[in-house]
Amino acid sequence: MRPDIQPHLQIVPRDQHNVSRRDISPNALRVLYRLREGGFHGYLVGGAVRDLLIGGHPKDFDVATNATPEEVKSLFRNCRLIGRRFRLAHVVYGREIIEVATFRASSDDGSGDRELHEGGRVLRDNVYGTIEEDAIRRDFTANALYYAIEDFSVRDYTGGYEDVRNRLMRLIGDPETRYREDPVRMLRAVRLAAKLDFEIEAATAAPIPQLAPLLRDAAPARLFEECLKMFLSGHAVKSFLGLERHGLLPALLPETAAALKSNRTGALRRMLLEGLKGTDARVANDEPVSPAFLFALLLWPAYCRALATLQAQGVHEAEAQRRAADRVTVHQLETLALPRRFSLPMQEIWLLQSRFSQRQRKRVFRLLSHPRFRAAFDFLTLRMAASEEHADDVAFWREAQTASGDALSAQLDAQREALGTEEGDGPRKRRRRRRKTANGGE
Ligand code: ATP
Ligand code: MG
Repeated sequence: MRPDIQPHLQIVPRDQHNVSRRDISPNALRVLYRLREGGFHGYLVGGAVRDLLIGGHPKDFDVATNATPEEVKSLFRNCRLIGRRFRLAHVVYGREIIEVATFRASSDDGSGDRELHEGGRVLRDNVYGTIEEDAIRRDFTANALYYAIEDFSVRDYTGGYEDVRNRLMRLIGDPETRYREDPVRMLRAVRLAAKLDFEIEAATAAPIPQLAPLLRDAAPARLFEECLKMFLSGHAVKSFLGLERHGLLPALLPETAAALKSNRTGALRRMLLEGLKGTDARVANDEPVSPAFLFALLLWPAYCRALATLQAQGVHEAEAQRRAADRVTVHQLETLALPRRFSLPMQEIWLLQSRFSQRQRKRVFRLLSHPRFRAAFDFLTLRMAASEEHADDVAFWREAQTASGDALSAQLDAQREALGTEEGDGPRKRRRRRRKTANGGE
């Protein structure tokens, strides 16, 4: 047992809380009852209990038990064991999986499968424990509540019930120690506070700015996952403001943080927030959101800055764009494991931005049929939110998407004549192809 944390059981009886079986997944209830029939203790735990207490709708239901994974497996036909170091049981009902974890003794990152690591961080654990130990190895008090199927009470070992009522994210134990064990908890504090509309309790918030750099040593794959949860679950704006407020942005998105700082007009930050607002609206409407677009947005300030630097060095436009895109991606990969299937379309969205100012017929049609056109156009629209400069382009391309091919051709011809330009699509004009174009830098 951790010497620094003393669990103290408080039982909140059924008539004093609002967790109702009606709101619990029938499959999770099945698991709880079956464990009980098997002679074990089973509890609903973690995010689900917390969310139910504040009237939310949990997306998944986790169960904690004193049965070992093998014992769990013997109770359910539809059960498979996963995880190498710490084994977990998954009870599978069609598309719903109820995760059943045996109480465990020491702290970890909740992933159930962890590598050894130096420097005071939590190492691995494969030691089963008591419910008290299981409670105090969790991160926040609000996440350490247990709903018992035998009497429908909520078991609270860390003061979480009170904290949920006061809408507070409070780390269990000494905050600095807990962040050093697992720096990702800093992001979880911000993310969960944003999602639940909680405050981060003062002592829990205090060490964050100073410890933020520890995030650089966190596993890049985990940080990427955490980012997706933070920005693609409908609370992106609040999460971003939380990251800023608690000094986490430079650790998570270093180049974007630097670019925002040096952008005096604030246009880049405005655009970023506008984009995140759009993302939240899409999630609220059940529309799809893509990691590629999200990262195009999050790293756009960094891209613009890198591009400006290269331009100042006299690098040719198209080359500068390509190099800026690569540079930003490579640097960001040091902290975040952004898979190529997202980073490639992200770069395409950036590189397409410079093509919206081109109006030659062939280029217009080529861009319209580009697989990334829609995303790039949506991105252009966002840039207009930050600077009116793009209004003409947005208007043109909005029309172009709906116009028939003939109408668009006629319009482009008319425009060309009005401008008296020679440039057309005729074979003789090819030498003008590589002309300089306006760039995407803001
Ligand atoms: P969400 O609503 O986003 O799923 P959650 O609290 O359920 O939030 P999960 O990542 O699903 O978050 O984790 C389930 C539970 O595991 C948490 O409620 C917490 O008790 C525990 N846990 C998760 N991550 C950590 C961590 N880094 N350190 C300690 N405990 C953790
Ligand atoms: Mg969860």
